[in-house]
Amino acid sequence: MFEVVIGLEVHTQLNTKTKIFCSCQTSFGDEANTHVCPTCLALPGALPVLNKEAVKKAIAFGTAVNATINRRSIFNRKNYFYPDLPKAYQISQFEVPVVENGELFIDVGAGKKRIGITRAHLEEDAGKNIHEDSYSLVDLNRAGTPLLEIVSEPDLRSSDEAVAYLKQLHSILRFLNISDANMQEGSFRCDANVSIRPKGDTKLYTRVEIKNLNSFKFIQKAIEYEVERQSDAWEDGRYEQEVVQETRLFDTVNLVTRSMRGKEDSAEYRYFPDPDLLPVIIPDDMYDEAIKIPELAEQKQARYEQEYGIKTADAINLTSSVEMATFFEYLIEKGRNPKLCTTWLLVELLGRLKNGVTIADSPVNSDRLNELLVRIEDSTISQKAAKEVLDEMLQSSASVDDIIEAKGLKQVSDDGAILAIIDAILAANADKVAEYKSGKDKLFGFFVGQVMKEGKGAFNPAKVNELLSSKL
Ligand code: ADP
Ligand code: ZN
Ligand code: MG
Repeated sequence: MFEVVIGLEVHTQLNTKTKIFCSCQTSFGDEANTHVCPTCLALPGALPVLNKEAVKKAIAFGTAVNATINRRSIFNRKNYFYPDLPKAYQISQFEVPVVENGELFIDVGAGKKRIGITRAHLEEDAGKNIHEDSYSLVDLNRAGTPLLEIVSEPDLRSSDEAVAYLKQLHSILRFLNISDANMQEGSFRCDANVSIRPKGDTKLYTRVEIKNLNSFKFIQKAIEYEVERQSDAWEDGRYEQEVVQETRLFDTVNLVTRSMRGKEDSAEYRYFPDPDLLPVIIPDDMYDEAIKIPELAEQKQARYEQEYGIKTADAINLTSSVEMATFFEYLIEKGRNPKLCTTWLLVELLGRLKNGVTIADSPVNSDRLNELLVRIEDSTISQKAAKEVLDEMLQSSASVDDIIEAKGLKQVSDDGAILAIIDAILAANADKVAEYKSGKDKLFGFFVGQVMKEGKGAFNPAKVNELLSSKL
């Protein structure tokens, strides 16, 4: 009976080397106030100078989401007071952002759904307040880190759609290599705007903004809680009183949202063009360079299916992160068989990584897995023996060849050794040989089995088949 309406704002830190308006290094986790200068400390008279790389990264994003890139955009001052914002204004973009009118597509079972991206604008991050028992400290290392704020249209209709949108956005940012988009470290932060309306109604009702959600799970839970709170209020006739335009915080322990403050309308920020910064005009050469973007996950997925004949589900997994795709493509580049790579990466290696270890920090890197796959492809070891080798590789840094040697896993491909066994088996089973020759083809499998058994699993099966055929 209610329809859920969600619009998301995502603040993502761009991975430039230096800050957006000064040459201080961007950093995370360093000693407080070690990456600061007169500009990002807001000392009087210090002037901002725009970082070109941040603009290029914003253009790359706009290109990836089919957006309009404004070749002329403006930086504004957004005025508000907060201890971690010593200028008492944030430099941001308002009427004319660098990116407008984009889109991305989410897949939530019922085919692809288009989600509009209203705008993406550049701005500076604030510092960080650190609250101790009886006092608070301010660390300005983060002040001036470039942010791209990406604002969606209110096109999302469920918490599942919201999460699908965020995952898609996250993937785009990572494959473009314009942000670490690390949620734990706060370089991908989401505010969810949530309202409800009677089904069939098209107007927008009062929205509540839930600030700074930093995991997909919490985003889902926060939206679900908020939808329930608003629907309950509606059904109990308390909607007007209880659902007001405000900012709420999500309590991650009790899984409820709580009012934090009334939500300002933009007029209260007194936005005005920053007189310290000229309008940003993107010249042709810079634009042409910035729109050359790398292949994104979806394109890679399609290519893996077409070029390598990989199944859709596997291709989706192989492109689930930049690290995974890079790992896979390294193996392909080294000449390994794509299907062999798929199995050994997705099933064997991934299946052995435990406790949340991802491919990014797998103890067996792409170079080491390549060594192993080479030994499967050149028949030095069987796939079964290779599993034993991989188990060992996760424990030790010994070379693949040393592990094979130490464990005595080398397959016998030497004709002489195999032929000796074949001759013995055929001699001992003269009756079966006669039957086989008179047309009982099925017996071939019996001979293979016997030879392999004698070889104690060390014979190269392809070789055994080949030699047996010629003998018989
Ligand atoms: P602000 O910074 O004031 O929050 P923005 O324009 O940056 O304003 O972001 C507003 C966000 O809220 C957008 O993502 C928009 O889609 C969403 N939104 C606006 N109205 C509603 C509504 N009634 N219900 C849900 N989301 C909404
Ligand atoms: Zn600085
Ligand atoms: Mg907002």
